[in-house]
Amino acid sequence: MLHAVTTIKHLPLVWLLTSVCVACGAADSTLGPSGPPPHLTIDVRYLSPLTAEQRGVVAAAADRWTRALSKDFGNFRFDYAANTCFPGAPQLNETHHNPLIFISVGEIDGAFGSLALSRICAVSGRDTLPIISQIQLDQDDVYSMEVQGILLGVITHEMGHALGFTPGTYTPRNLAGGGTADPYFSGSAARAQFALHGAWYTGATVPLENRNGNGPNDPHWRYEVFRDELMVGEIAVGLRSPLSSITLGYFKDLGYEVDFSVADSYEVTPLFGDGNRVPPGLTLANDLRTTVPPAVVAPIISR
Ligand SMILES: [Zn+2]
Repeated sequence: MLHAVTTIKHLPLVWLLTSVCVACGAADSTLGPSGPPPHLTIDVRYLSPLTAEQRGVVAAAADRWTRALSKDFGNFRFDYAANTCFPGAPQLNETHHNPLIFISVGEIDGAFGSLALSRICAVSGRDTLPIISQIQLDQDDVYSMEVQGILLGVITHEMGHALGFTPGTYTPRNLAGGGTADPYFSGSAARAQFALHGAWYTGATVPLENRNGNGPNDPHWRYEVFRDELMVGEIAVGLRSPLSSITLGYFKDLGYEVDFSVADSYEVTPLFGDGNRVPPGLTLANDLRTTVPPAVVAPIISR
């Protein structure tokens, strides 16, 4: 069962529950039973009032992932009381298909510091991929993220966690190792893409972040190696947060079908000491706040 997470001190008393189904059925209707899996569908539900502009950014992030990834998750039955996974989580009584992501704006740690966080509420019992997640944007940072032009990168990054860039997904598959000093992700597709774009690197690949002492449980590429790539644990004003073919390789290793043409152009380029391009005090480190094991839900097998 799901457990309440109590690390949030405040949530809006009045939250707005709306649902936006992104790319629903866009590619499904023409596919026969033997066709490729449909493009990913992400069901986004807002638990806080977001401006039209902010929702547009969320839609753009979801569109990026849905164009890149294809997967038939199956159907899942959700029967959860309100507040089961996180404070403010709505009651769920529905059969659902594909990932469900709640998006809210609330207090995390005040201005600066952590910009956003993700929680994984439930995963598929078939393949450990998340099927219910929450993305929370820090209410004291969301405006400045918009002004600085980094909101799209932050939301796309958090959606990456919500779609499976989590140790809870790759660790059960034995796709990570290296201990605290030199953690790495070992999926073959990600490694192949890394070799194409980072041949200069001679260490174990693909290097995960090693600055926070979490070993392979830190679900970010190593910042000193990847610099501004989307799935590093930092966000840099003026840099691109590119979605690389390496990250798409990661998702291929998890079982998604991947359209590599959606990737941004990207070459692995080490920092070489210019880390000062990251503004101090802005971070996505430790943004995966799953403090209790997510529920494991078996898909409904239609017969
Ligand atoms: Zn992150």
